[in-house]
Amino acid sequence: MQAIRRIGIMGGTFDPIHMGHLVTADAARMEYGLDQVVLIPDTCPPHKQQMAVTSVQHRYRMALLATDSNLYFNVLPLVEINGPSYTIDTVKSLKKNYGENTELYLIIGSDLIRSLPHWYGIDELLCLCKVIVAPRQGSIGAIKAVIHHFGETGKRRIFRLKTPELEISSTEIREKVRAGKSICYIVPENVEHYINKEKLYRSY
Ligand code: ATP
Repeated sequence: MQAIRRIGIMGGTFDPIHMGHLVTADAARMEYGLDQVVLIPDTCPPHKQQMAVTSVQHRYRMALLATDSNLYFNVLPLVEINGPSYTIDTVKSLKKNYGENTELYLIIGSDLIRSLPHWYGIDELLCLCKVIVAPRQGSIGAIKAVIHHFGETGKRRIFRLKTPELEISSTEIREKVRAGKSICYIVPENVEHYINKEKLYRSY
């Protein structure tokens, strides 16, 4: 019998990818024995359609740089989608690609947890994957409330990652670059070099 493979999925704008993403992905990998974590830069995130977002090619290249020394991390090749890319569609297509002997674990920060009950296709999503929630921006209470909201399914399919909060965001990084401040130690060194070389985030 084939062993079950456990795959973590972290979608994000990654504008830019930072240590908060990487530390969270790695903590989830260790706590849940994941064989691999797939990072997926959103082409057109439904909740950020009104915002100016750096080109997906830059965000993809930074994600590749950030993960190139970690064999457990993979960045999903770009698929350009016109219009919103919903998590349920991504998860369905990954389930199909990875096949039967795979368990999928969606990794999100708790800043997204309040909106989870309203996600497009959420009931089907919770059938297809488990959700690992990392504490962020003081919304730990909301994790419990959402697990409760989904009843038995919530208890079996939604889990809190036991890591301390990491106060890092892409917004903070973009603001620091714009203000000429250091982003050393909050993004990987090669990502910092890429941002400088490509002169990203200077004119927001
Ligand atoms: P922005 O500041 O531009 O809104 P962000 O820092 O929230 O960006 P995203 O790429 O939008 O980064 O986040 C992708 C996923 O990673 C989301 O599930 C988000 O909650 C999670 N995440 C981002 N930063 C952290 C962090 N410091 N700790 C835990 N989870 C995080």
